[in-house]
Amino acid sequence: MKAQNTIASVSVDLDAIACYWRIHALPGEPPESARRLILRRCLPRFRELFAQTGIKATFFVVGGDLKDDPGGAAQLAALAADGHELANHTHTHPYDLVRLARAQIAEEIDRAHDAIGACAGIPPTGFRAPGYAVSATVLELLCKRAYRYDSSAFPSIPYYAAKAAVMAGMRALRQPSGSYLDTPAVLGAPPSPYHPAADAPYRRGDLPLLEIPMSVTRCLRLPVIGTSIVTAPEWLRRRMVAAVLARPMFNLELHGIDLADAEGDGFPAALVRRQPDLRRPLAAKRRALEATLAQARAEGATFQTLSQAVDSLASRARHQES
Ligand SMILES: [Zn+2]
Repeated sequence: MKAQNTIASVSVDLDAIACYWRIHALPGEPPESARRLILRRCLPRFRELFAQTGIKATFFVVGGDLKDDPGGAAQLAALAADGHELANHTHTHPYDLVRLARAQIAEEIDRAHDAIGACAGIPPTGFRAPGYAVSATVLELLCKRAYRYDSSAFPSIPYYAAKAAVMAGMRALRQPSGSYLDTPAVLGAPPSPYHPAADAPYRRGDLPLLEIPMSVTRCLRLPVIGTSIVTAPEWLRRRMVAAVLARPMFNLELHGIDLADAEGDGFPAALVRRQPDLRRPLAAKRRALEATLAQARAEGATFQTLSQAVDSLASRARHQES
């Protein structure tokens, strides 16, 4: 079956090593030599992958990293000039964004908005929350700033259960993770793009902004994101990708770390021990991503940035109404 009308959007969250340090509750700060690895070593590989495959992608940028790494900022500016989209992933990547005071949430959005807008030459119109958790306040602040989409909901039961178990285990060991577990309401979120309710971000409503959830399979709601694609056996990966290509939209969320070469790049050993995808060879991960993009293309999917996808979905909805 050809998924002729499927829109495929590929996005890359550029979380720095310090984010993973917090998730795994590693002591202190990451070594100075590792701080900028994601922008310096992984981002160029994505640039190459997308140039090879002719795909324009969306990069979710942590605003503070632009000032911290002018070389990384220059690369991102070049990607924006080449037609890729730069979107807002907060200023400092606080996993507990939804628990912050309203003024702090606004500051996280606004500082990143200004920094990313200055880098790209156009202001961002899309947002992704750290750790996949949004609240009514976050969406309200985004709507006030005329953001057109949020892409944070991750309605995957196995992902949620695994994260809850790991975080409970770490708490029991008195090494609480710096990550944040969203409300279970997210598990009831629609798996396809929807307009959320003003008071319930994971339910349908009439906010002008579109929520674009991470792709999950229909029955088991298996997560179809970079981490699962680069670690799953080939047969499972192909079936998961085929399942999400049967939907109107395939929202493929990747992370910078998905194209890490742990040894060659010099990733800290303490992190490699905790993060299983870092122990997969770079060549195998690249093959898995290339095969996924080729599968989507072979099934007739059209690749668009997330902001282009918002336009396409809106015009389809108008078409269906008329
Ligand atoms: Zn992130």
